[in-house]
Amino acid sequence: MATRVIPPRILKNLRYNTATKPLLSSAAHPPLSPALSPPCVPPPSSAVLRPAAAADLNFNDVAKLFSFVPTSKLLRSTAVLHATALEPMVDFGTWLMRSNLMHVDGLRHLILAAIRHSFYDTFCAGEDASTAGKSIRSLNEAGLRGMLVYGVEDALDNDACDRNLRGFLHTVDVCRSLPPSSVSFVIVKITAICPMSLLERISDLLRWQHKDPSFTLSWKQDSLPIFSESSPLYHTLKRPEPLTPQEESDLQLANQRFLELCQKCVQNNIPLLVDAEHTYVQPAIDYFTYSSAILHNKDDNPIVFGTIQTYLKDAKERLLLTTEAAEKMGIPMGFKLVRGAYMSSETKLAQSLGYDSPIHNTIQDTHKCFNDCSSFMLEKIANGPGGVVLATHNVESGKLAAAKAHELGIGKVNHKLEFAQLHGMSEALSFGLSNAGFQVSKYMPFGPVETVMPYLLRRAEENRGMLAASGFDRQLMRKELGRRLKAAVF
Ligand SMILES: Cc1cc2nc3c(=O)[nH]c(=O)nc-3n(C[C@H](O)[C@H](O)[C@H](O)COP(=O)(O)OP(=O)(O)OC[C@H]3O[C@@H](n4cnc5c(N)ncnc54)[C@H](O)[C@@H]3O)c2cc1C
Repeated sequence: MATRVIPPRILKNLRYNTATKPLLSSAAHPPLSPALSPPCVPPPSSAVLRPAAAADLNFNDVAKLFSFVPTSKLLRSTAVLHATALEPMVDFGTWLMRSNLMHVDGLRHLILAAIRHSFYDTFCAGEDASTAGKSIRSLNEAGLRGMLVYGVEDALDNDACDRNLRGFLHTVDVCRSLPPSSVSFVIVKITAICPMSLLERISDLLRWQHKDPSFTLSWKQDSLPIFSESSPLYHTLKRPEPLTPQEESDLQLANQRFLELCQKCVQNNIPLLVDAEHTYVQPAIDYFTYSSAILHNKDDNPIVFGTIQTYLKDAKERLLLTTEAAEKMGIPMGFKLVRGAYMSSETKLAQSLGYDSPIHNTIQDTHKCFNDCSSFMLEKIANGPGGVVLATHNVESGKLAAAKAHELGIGKVNHKLEFAQLHGMSEALSFGLSNAGFQVSKYMPFGPVETVMPYLLRRAEENRGMLAASGFDRQLMRKELGRRLKAAVF
């Protein structure tokens, strides 16, 4: 489907509409940083926040905040988050997990055991779906929900894709056995059910069609806009060859796998959330997501959700184009908004090809883009169908979105809005939002230690840049640990 340029008038309007008013100041809420302050547009008087909105998110009462977290878990999380915030520790852990020592029998066992009792237990939900199910039950007792993530990474061939599909289907079965609505989403990575090389080929072809709309793709199903005018196309510098008969047949297999998973989710009414990955395969991932959303998202019930990485310069434009096209087609769309997890590899790839990074030039631009997109989606769901998952550890973004939801009168326990954090990260924000009455999920990868290693490596790598987020959490956890110690001694 052809995309078009967004007139500046509409973009300007988007910026205006998505301005979130600052929270009223309170002791619990330091003023927003200038970077996050909304543009200076006077808010309509009817929309001024009620003081209750600002008081909702309370991080002061650490006893209440961590009341469901056992002391042993608090201690482990504090230690692991502290370790992952230290550059040399991250370097050493990353080197160890990638090193040849992992191939030395006795050592491998020791290293895996050390990883299991530290990183793994903090960031993962268990070795299999049933253990993850148990973690979800206890999470649910604490008022949170779970997103079940079968922890596999890229598949290289059809056999691996078939194996992975069985894992995803089993995950849906496990969800059925858990208390209703304790699982908010099943997560799928398209790179696990369609071979990577094929995703690269499809992305190339889609990019070329965006450059040259007369370039026909006979296999292409109805979709929503995948690119905007500002989308980078440097990954595909020359006209790609059409898919070979073998590739077409592999694509059909991948379509069938995704269809089977979507149908199982529809039958069980469990939303399916598609993760976003590297930009060199993201067009194909969006293509799978949007063509399935057209088939399965009906009435006011989006079953297939996509993900927008707001660290990308073209994120806002694409979100606008896609939601607009979905609206015209009467398709309720759901999006997870994230900042994004592949920052360093994206920048390296673009630089190696002699192009600008697709990532915003400054972190402030990324923050603004996330907050603008959140606000835009909140307005959409307040006035129509669709859903949004605000997946962030950023406390300011959480506060802004909570205030905006309040301002728009979006019911807190509302299937249209979900906040989400990674398992083992930002417990304070998760419980703070949950205590304020919002639906909050934890992203819970499960699988054997060896299988989830790439995920753990990404966590370690990413936490390098997450000093601020984990620092806030660690500070509150230490405060609570101190309080518990005092209570035990005196
Ligand atoms: C539930 C959940 C699901 C997720 N799913 C996905 C997914 O499918 N795909 C995906 O890619 N990511 C995903 N992520 C996001 C990712 O894993 C990181 O956790 C996230 O991007 C960190 O951002 P934050 O919103 O928590 O904000 P913060 O805690 O504020 O972190 C901001 C970080 O963003 C980085 N950053 C972004 N832009 C810039 C810039 N321009 N300059 C400098 N630094 C910058 C820095 O590392 C910085 O530390 C998910 C996150 C969650 C919580």
